[in-house]
Amino acid sequence: MNGLTADQQKQEAERLFALLSTITNFKTKEKFSYEDCLKIAPLSLRINQLKQKNDALILAHYYCTPDIVYGIADFKGDSYALASKAVNAKEKNIIFCGVYFMAQTAKIINPDKNVFLPPVTAGCSLADGITAEEVKELKQKYSDAAFVCYINSTAQVKAYCDVCVTSANVYDIVAKLPQKQIVFVPDLFMAENIRTELKRRNIEKEVFFFFFSCCVHDKYTVQDIEEIKKNHPSAKIISHPECAKEVSGLSDYCGSTSGMLAYVKNSTATEFAVLSENGIINSLELENPSKTFYSTGRTCAQMKRNTLLNVLGVLENLSKAPKVEVSAQTALKAKKAIDNMFKMAGKQNDR
Ligand code: SF4
Repeated sequence: MNGLTADQQKQEAERLFALLSTITNFKTKEKFSYEDCLKIAPLSLRINQLKQKNDALILAHYYCTPDIVYGIADFKGDSYALASKAVNAKEKNIIFCGVYFMAQTAKIINPDKNVFLPPVTAGCSLADGITAEEVKELKQKYSDAAFVCYINSTAQVKAYCDVCVTSANVYDIVAKLPQKQIVFVPDLFMAENIRTELKRRNIEKEVFFFFFSCCVHDKYTVQDIEEIKKNHPSAKIISHPECAKEVSGLSDYCGSTSGMLAYVKNSTATEFAVLSENGIINSLELENPSKTFYSTGRTCAQMKRNTLLNVLGVLENLSKAPKVEVSAQTALKAKKAIDNMFKMAGKQNDR
């Protein structure tokens, strides 16, 4: 492919195999084989060459497939970590392997850079749940409240909010806000988890919320937990705050993706059941080769629309590839909410 020699491809396959051999290829349900890596090699090699030639940075969310996360990404992370990396980007072009709201955030932070989302229309059930018009109406109704939006929201929604949060910093930021009333959009389950956490910290606030959820995390149920306990009684149960409060309440740990990685790393337990998007299992496996992970196999179809082929398509045709655009007025207002997050979050686990 494109003049790559057999030796170059073999070396690339060996590099990939050294990284991926301990993790599960969810397409085959086996660990990545050398043959799997040989298939990935021509594409990852070409992408890595074009990335340098085109002054491009590739950011990838943990929920993307391992060929992207470990084969071509300069940085992998959850929403907070990727937003932080986007702030410091030196490259002229940012290729964001994720979904639309993430690429929009990168553009807002870097108005002078070109930002590309390889699967141009990849959306998020949560971010698309509420519109800016609806937030405007809520602001009239709850005029004394602080408006807090999850990072999984559109730029237009962020523009009407006081501060943006991620699952890695939501509790600390809400706890620090001076207002007694909080309107949290758009995740119903995260809002319920905020209420529980504020109560645990003895902080009195009224949290109002609306009825949208992540179509991956909202599927986890108490029955899933009962099943796990029956089949894997020694496993620690870890979940994401986008899960229902009944699920997080029964979990040994509930936190952001970076929080889960830290929890597993520091735990003496050897088995974990993971109630989140399947992609996180690969990072857990890679960082903890002696530990065992059980998954219920839920995946985000939108995240999986990022492929090596569509990343290559962007890099091969950078001048014509559609760019992520946010109007200057919206970007200015939304940036205030994002900047407030960085100010209020302080030092965080940057993963
Ligand atoms: S996992 Fe859920 S919150 Fe994340 S992008 Fe997919 S639908 Fe959105």
